[in-house]
Amino acid sequence: MSSYLRDRYAKMDAYTPGEQPQDMEYIKLNTNESPYPPAPSVVHAVTEEQVELLRLYSDPTAKNLKKKLARLYGVESENIFLSNGSDDILNFAFMAYGHRGAVFPDITYGFYPVFAELHGVSYQEIPLNGRFEINKEDYFNLNKLIVIANPNAPTGISMNAVSVEEIIARNPQSVVVVDEAYVDFGGESVYPLIGKYENLLVVRTFSKSRCLAGGRLGYAIASAGIISDLEKIKYATNPYNINRLTMLLGEKTVEAEEYYQEKCQEIIDTRNMTTAGLQSLGFEVLPSDANFVFARHPRISGEDMYLKLKAQGVLVRHFPKERVKDFNRITIGTPKQMQKLLNIMEELLCE
Ligand SMILES: *Cc1c(COP(=O)(O)O)cnc(C)c1O
Repeated sequence: MSSYLRDRYAKMDAYTPGEQPQDMEYIKLNTNESPYPPAPSVVHAVTEEQVELLRLYSDPTAKNLKKKLARLYGVESENIFLSNGSDDILNFAFMAYGHRGAVFPDITYGFYPVFAELHGVSYQEIPLNGRFEINKEDYFNLNKLIVIANPNAPTGISMNAVSVEEIIARNPQSVVVVDEAYVDFGGESVYPLIGKYENLLVVRTFSKSRCLAGGRLGYAIASAGIISDLEKIKYATNPYNINRLTMLLGEKTVEAEEYYQEKCQEIIDTRNMTTAGLQSLGFEVLPSDANFVFARHPRISGEDMYLKLKAQGVLVRHFPKERVKDFNRITIGTPKQMQKLLNIMEELLCE
């Protein structure tokens, strides 16, 4: 760090992304990417002509992609916002709506407190209950920016849409962000409620269920008012923040909806197989509606398990936070990868 850095940034902790080591070939179950490639029509979409067109800026209004997403979800283009990954949108949400403070669970996506600190937003972390669930009543009448990941990460536990709606309805003076990064793996979306609640901001991503993490594409569904706020902030930072190729791949992705529904179902089936396998090895596995499971074993610490798996070429995600340090978050890969993981774990537990 240099001595020139502005004070408030010097004091801030940045987000720690999951490791992407290059020293050997790992079975990568640590950052919730899809184990499957994008649909064939997406894989083949980038032609020489498309690359040549990179000399031109991308469409800052993302008109075509917005139209396709709007049609898919039965909303209007004015209800869709697009950005460079959903992290970008969450960042904008803290910037735009954090002035009265923010509230989110103690165990949730680790980027929320980072965004809060980045923008000088004071925040309160509300503990999940003993079963690692969100108590909806804790979020009633807060009058602050509320941020809920549903399904939650890293627990994988989801809340039903009726409970989320109660939280939205009981905070009419503030924006409620529902981060639905994992909703396609078994959660219930609240986007159909955007016509009813002007304060609802649903944030989604192409990174997990749409096999496009490296493309960096996220979107939001919300009332026209909220979308125009986000557009204003985007035009004040980087209007061309989605590159041409990603925009094209996004359009092809929306057109291949059926392929992705199939892949999501495969991941759900593999998750069920993995959960059963882990349980038979003595793991406690939280009930997941996401493309990962959060599991702990009574005989081995979370960190030990993480290190031993890494030595065997399997990467999972360990969080040092006191309340969850005995757990590991394990991304659901292909059935073959998960079988291999289970075999390695069985050996480790025999040692
Ligand atoms: C992965 C993830 C994101 C970020 O996704 P990008 O679109 O890749 O930026 C947002 N929220 C949660 C809860 C996530 O797990």
